[in-house]
Formats: sequence, C-alpha cells, structure tokens
Amino acid sequence: MEIISYTEAHRIFREAVRKFCEKEVIPHADAWEEAGIVPKLVWRKMGEQGFLCMDVPEAYGGYGADFLYSVILIEELTRTGNTGLAAPLHSDIVVPYITSFASEELKQKYLPGCVSGDVITAIAMTEPNTGSDLSAIRTTAVADGDHVVINGQKTFTSNGINCDLLVLAAKDPAVDNPYQAIDLYLVEAGTPGFEKGNQIKKVGWHSQDTAELFFSDCRIPKENRLGQKGSGFMMLMEKLQQERLVCCVMAVTAAERMLDMTIAYCKERTAFGRPISSFQNSQFRIVEMATEIRLGRTFVDKLVMDHVEGANVVVNVSMAKYWTTEMAMRVADGCVQLHGGYGYCEEYPIARAWRDARVMSIFAGTSEIMKGIAAKFMGL
Ligand SMILES: Cc1cc2nc3c(=O)[nH]c(=O)nc-3n(C[C@H](O)[C@H](O)[C@H](O)COP(=O)(O)OP(=O)(O)OC[C@H]3O[C@@H](n4cnc5c(N)ncnc54)[C@H](O)[C@@H]3O)c2cc1C
Repeated sequence: MEIISYTEAHRIFREAVRKFCEKEVIPHADAWEEAGIVPKLVWRKMGEQGFLCMDVPEAYGGYGADFLYSVILIEELTRTGNTGLAAPLHSDIVVPYITSFASEELKQKYLPGCVSGDVITAIAMTEPNTGSDLSAIRTTAVADGDHVVINGQKTFTSNGINCDLLVLAAKDPAVDNPYQAIDLYLVEAGTPGFEKGNQIKKVGWHSQDTAELFFSDCRIPKENRLGQKGSGFMMLMEKLQQERLVCCVMAVTAAERMLDMTIAYCKERTAFGRPISSFQNSQFRIVEMATEIRLGRTFVDKLVMDHVEGANVVVNVSMAKYWTTEMAMRVADGCVQLHGGYGYCEEYPIARAWRDARVMSIFAGTSEIMKGIAAKFMGL
C-alpha cells in the first residue's frame, strides 16, 4: 500500500510538471551548468504554469495547494538531474516565511510576484564565521527612526545572484541573549548598501548561483521585519523543519534516479562476455542500494504525511535528513563504482549526480547538527 495517497489532481499535476521539465529544463541543463546560473526567464515560465509557491493563499495570487504538490514538484525537478533551478528553495523554504510571518502589507506587496516568478527569493543565514551555530551571526540590524540599518556579510546564499528579495537573519547588538537578538528582515535587491558579491565556485551544483552578499549601512523600512521583535530564531527553528524535509525528498529521489540509471547501464555494459548486471557482486550491490532507498522512501513518505497533518516532526525529520542524505551519498558512490571508468566521466550523468549528492548532508543543517537535535529531543 502506498503511504502517500495522491489524488487524480495530483497525478495530472505531476504529468504537467514532467512535460514542463522535458521541454524547459532537461534540454538546457548542460548550458546552465556551463553558465553557472539559470536564466530568470525560466522562473517566470514556472510561474506561468502555476509551479511556484503553490501553497500561497488565493488572496495573494496563489492556489492554496497542499504540500503534496510541492513534493511532486521537488521529485520531478530532482529527476531532471538539474540542481540550479532552486524553485523548492523559493517556494517551500523562503516564501513560507513571508506567508506565515509578514504583515498584510508585505504579503500583498511581494507574494503575487513570488507566485508569478517575477520575484525570486533567497534566504541568508550563514556567514563566513558561522554556519551551524546561528546564534553566533554577526550581521547587525540597528533601529534608526523609521528604518533599520543593516551591516555585515553573508555567504553560501543559494539564488544569491538571481534573487530579487532576501529573507535576512540579523542581530540587534543591544540584546544580550543571542537567541532573542535575531530578527528576520525582507531586503530588496537594489537597496543601496546591499551588494551581491562573487558567485562561489563549488564542487557541484554548478548551475546554482550560490553567492556572497554584503551589507554596508543598508537602510530598509522597519516594517520589513517579519514577526515579533526578537522572534527570528524561533521562526527559523519552525521553518527549518520543512526545509529539511525538502532535502529528504530530494535525497531519496536523487538516489532512486542514480540507481535507475545504474541498473540500465549494468544491463547494457558487458565484461568477460556477459552483462555487468549478471555478476553476483553487481546484483548484491544493487539490491543493497535498492533496500536502503526503499527504507528511505518509506521513512520520508511517512514524514511527508505527518507534516501534512501538522504533526511535530522535529526528531524524525532530523534523523531522516542525516540518514537519507548520507544514504544518497552511499548510493552515488556505489553507482559510480558500477559504471567503472565511465562513472568518472562528465558525459555520463552519474558523474554529476555523484558530485551533486555530496552537499546534501551539509546544507540545511549538517548531519552532526541533525544528530545533536535528535539527541537533545530524546533527552540525552
Ligand atoms: C551549496 C550550498 C548552499 C547553501 N545554501 C545556503 C542558503 O541558501 N542560505 C544559507 O543561509 N546557508 C546556505 N548554505 C550554508 C549551509 O547551511 C552551511 O554550510 C551549513 O549550515 C554548515 O555551516 P558551515 O559551513 O559554517 O560549517 P561549520 O558550522 O563550520 O561546521 C564545520 C563542521 O563542524 C561540525 N560541527 C559544527 N558544530 C558542531 C557541533 N555542535 N557538534 C558536532 N559537530 C559540529 C559540522 O557538522 C561540520 O562538519 C549553503 C551551503 C552550501 C554548501
């Protein structure tokens, strides 16, 4: 029995996303890898099709759709092998901060553009001196009349070059308790004092515009703060759960894709006059990987349903984030091995998939941080 009961409407949606990916993503994926970025036009095409921010209420131009539509979109985008078109980051990670915590005015101002793809978003938490320990961020936000003045630096911001709107974590230096000092602000690209820096040259995710961002006396209206003063850390802790669940869905789907392409390769490629797939070692390795993937899929689908039903998923999502992303790395490695030398060649998609899998246990909270959270909630 399937754990997730998709409706006919979900299935039609998946078909539409798949067709879109076949036409608008897969043929261009190599060019985007070369360019190191996905053209903004593609985001607008996604918006035209209704593929962005599906959960945003209709009052702000969205569809009020359930999270399963997001899961479908994440899976289908992951199946293309392209990592640059970070629509799930925009739709399911960044924009929910606006939908949940922004004032009515800010929602009306920004959400319709987020849905149409005219406004691409990013979230900037990590800084050069700190990533795992968010309480140690140094970027400051100081009140000055009707404005807040931002100073500091962020790094590893996904969509950093393409972004039109940023959710920024910054600290009020007048507040001693680091957990109560953090606030989240909306900062528009083009605001004086906000500069986009260099795109970071990464080992993988080459088409994703991950960048450094700089703030120098950047003045934003004080109304651009999300939620109550001092509640930034709590908002992050709440929304990071969905962010990590998105990573789990990506990890399991990426692993499924890698194994599918490896099984096809092993059936075709021969050695010693027989298909690679006929060797007992290949069969055992494939079955081992398939078993791990099935365990991951079962765990993640259950978590998706728990999340849809509004259950507290903190412990399970922390466990699943570390386990599924590390499982995807194990699968990537096993699949490259079964491809032999061709697994190490750019023209074979497994090579890129292997490279791209590595970061998943690092971003959105490292495996170590995930285990630390689970241990804490288990009373250890
Ligand atoms: C491709 C990519 C995209 C990213 N996108 C974004 C983004 O859009 N927005 C954003 O804000 N950030 C983003 N990040 C940053 C990412 O979230 C951080 O890299 C991550 O949280 C780890 O922080 P760090 O790199 O500073 O490592 P560190 O915190 O310096 O950690 C280094 C090592 O120490 C370990 N460690 C740290 N603390 C502990 C502890 N308490 N116990 C045990 N071990 C510990 C870590 O697990 C890790 O192994 C991105 C990163 C990458 C690579």
